[in-house]
Amino acid sequence: MTSSAPDANLPELVLEVSDLKVHFPVMAGAVVRKQVGSVKAVDGVSFNVRRGETLGLVGESGCGKSTTGLAVLKMLDITSGQVVFEGEDISGYDRARMRPIRRRMQMVYQDPFGSLNPRMKVAQIVGEPLEVHGMANDRAIYRARVASLLDMVGLLPDMADRYPHEFSGGQRQRIGIARALALEPSLIICDEPVSALDVSIQAQVVNLFQELQERLGLTYVFIAHDLAVVRHISHRIAVMYLGRIVEIASRADLYARPLHPYTVALLAAIPIPDPEVEATRPQQIITGEVPSAMRPPPGCRFHTRCPSVMEVCKSVDPPMRDMGDDRAVACHLHGA
Ligand code: SF4
Repeated sequence: MTSSAPDANLPELVLEVSDLKVHFPVMAGAVVRKQVGSVKAVDGVSFNVRRGETLGLVGESGCGKSTTGLAVLKMLDITSGQVVFEGEDISGYDRARMRPIRRRMQMVYQDPFGSLNPRMKVAQIVGEPLEVHGMANDRAIYRARVASLLDMVGLLPDMADRYPHEFSGGQRQRIGIARALALEPSLIICDEPVSALDVSIQAQVVNLFQELQERLGLTYVFIAHDLAVVRHISHRIAVMYLGRIVEIASRADLYARPLHPYTVALLAAIPIPDPEVEATRPQQIITGEVPSAMRPPPGCRFHTRCPSVMEVCKSVDPPMRDMGDDRAVACHLHGA
């Protein structure tokens, strides 16, 4: 495995995403099927990720964060926009052209129970990417590599010959992480990797991600549905709502001084461990359902739920504004 020493020849930006759109057609008609609309799952998302950093991507279920992750990996067709990975524009790449790129960008999935093949031993699961990429011809080297990957994620070498059902949820997620590391990626998209785990185990797995980042110089996009989970691991955080990023800022700025009313509401939803403080703090709970991504509201997409809504918000879509200090927000409260 490579060390964390940065390669001076590699671009500082691992990922540059510009105006990314992923729209899914909605079809209707029993006999003649025709398109009657589209679900705008991702609708103009731009961000970048620097080498060695973790970008938290946060929002409620259905906001498009997982679709963004899959589109970045080109596991979904993108409708328009640009994805540049380590300086290479991969937006138009097909499966064949993505093959060598996929070695360097991997995914860790939410469900450690469903994402591992129950009929494969751990050695096969972790080593499969090596076989797929023709790196498993020498069995001794292959076994040693699998043992080293298991060790890296805190599992014992003799666990290689067991099946996934013999492991706890946290251990299974470690197996998924070992598999993702097999090809020495530079970028890992972590799609809600701790959401399915017990709270007591979540911190251990988040710590493992951090240790691996320091040791291997990894870059992460860490997807989560609440701001509590990404707090400790993220360097910067992007908040998504209904297919768009509405605020992006450093962790310190976002938690100390959230600008977008939706970010304020997400922060307010994090329980405070002290019951007295929790009982007395002002509540800013957003009500109502997330509107349909097929027919997003006009103007600001958050206006139907925003406690600070103004008349202008109902018709004018607020652009993303650079607020300095490496942060940007899309809200009329923070206009020019
Ligand atoms: Fe609320 Fe208006 Fe800002 Fe949208 S633009 S978040 S509706 S204040």
